[in-house]
Amino acid sequence: MRFDLITIFPEFFAGPLEHGIVRRAREAALIHAHVQDLREFTKDRHRTVDDRPFGGGEGMVLKPEPLFDAVESLLGRSVGDATSQDARDPNTAIVLMSAAGKLFRQETARRYSQLQRMILICGRYEGVDERVAEHLATEEISIGDFVLSGGELPALLVVDAVTRLIPGALGNEASSQNESFSESLSAVPSSRLPANYPTAATGMLLDYPHYTRPAEYRGWKVPETLIGGNHEEVAKWRRAAALEKTRRNRPDLL
Ligand code: SAH
Repeated sequence: MRFDLITIFPEFFAGPLEHGIVRRAREAALIHAHVQDLREFTKDRHRTVDDRPFGGGEGMVLKPEPLFDAVESLLGRSVGDATSQDARDPNTAIVLMSAAGKLFRQETARRYSQLQRMILICGRYEGVDERVAEHLATEEISIGDFVLSGGELPALLVVDAVTRLIPGALGNEASSQNESFSESLSAVPSSRLPANYPTAATGMLLDYPHYTRPAEYRGWKVPETLIGGNHEEVAKWRRAAALEKTRRNRPDLL
């Protein structure tokens, strides 16, 4: 997977790509991350990337020309109208980070992890000229119902979530399958659901709680079942605990 990150703050990405799973995936050439300074695609002396909004109002808006030029230069071709089927390369996503976009979820990350390339456009100021969302980006994505000051953190979040789903990126292949948001409840045999749960439940589970040593800390004991070593009992306990936690913290998932 190749990630291209288009930004007016290229230095922003120096640290976050240098740690843990993302770093190892880069070193193993499972992913390649290229940070593209948007200002390289300006043509004036001041390297202007923004301008005042038509219709008035506060703040500045990222201009379309440098963004279209940057993406076309990265692709090595004209995008034409990226929303028309023939111009679209199914293996490349051009994603505009936007508080007004569609919500990014684990299933979005899973879909992206199948691609060969993602170009992530980081907005700033009041946002980005709408023609970028309409005619350049193949998707407009939000990481949550809150407003940040730029698309850099959202883009990094997408890079991280997608990278850990690329085969080989995690030490233990099984681990990405047992994580939060990964399991559909409908796939759980009813015999393994607690009695008070509707068997026709559909939805996703959060992760089960994890414990490590010491077995007792400040008087708080690790649940007996986990210490017992009976694998089937442990699996049952984890299932029930995951359901309980999902019901408590994220009932909307059930
Ligand atoms: N005026 C916009 C917010 C602009 S914030 C609005 O009200 O929707 C500036 C930039 O930060 C955006 O262009 C976008 O790239 C990024 N951004 C802010 N919040 C985001 C979110 N929740 N998800 C993804 N990107 C976000």
